[in-house]
Amino acid sequence: MSMRRTQRAPQSCSNCTKRKVKCTKVLPCTECLDRGLGSSCRREAVVVKGRVVNNDTPTAPTKDELQMENVRLRNRIRELEARGGQEHQAEIGGTSLWRRQ
Ligand SMILES: [Zn+2]
Ligand SMILES: [Zn+2]
Repeated sequence: MSMRRTQRAPQSCSNCTKRKVKCTKVLPCTECLDRGLGSSCRREAVVVKGRVVNNDTPTAPTKDELQMENVRLRNRIRELEARGGQEHQAEIGGTSLWRRQ
């Protein structure tokens, strides 16, 4: 694996760099957390002035952090399920209206 040579170490995480979205520049960043990629959120290791800069690779998440993320994801799923159900009902209503016309 060859590393990129650059003048300045990137501040955005590699997921955001790949997706070309704005990174909040904290690890794990909001973008990755929103996508459930918090554990893979890290900055690209690069060579700056001949030195490898493996930008503060995050330490393994603590049990508390994992629990917090778990709760957050559960809430998110509940939220999405609630929203999806409403949309589905609206769709059915719209279809029956169509048929009557
Ligand atoms: Zn990011
Ligand atoms: Zn990220």
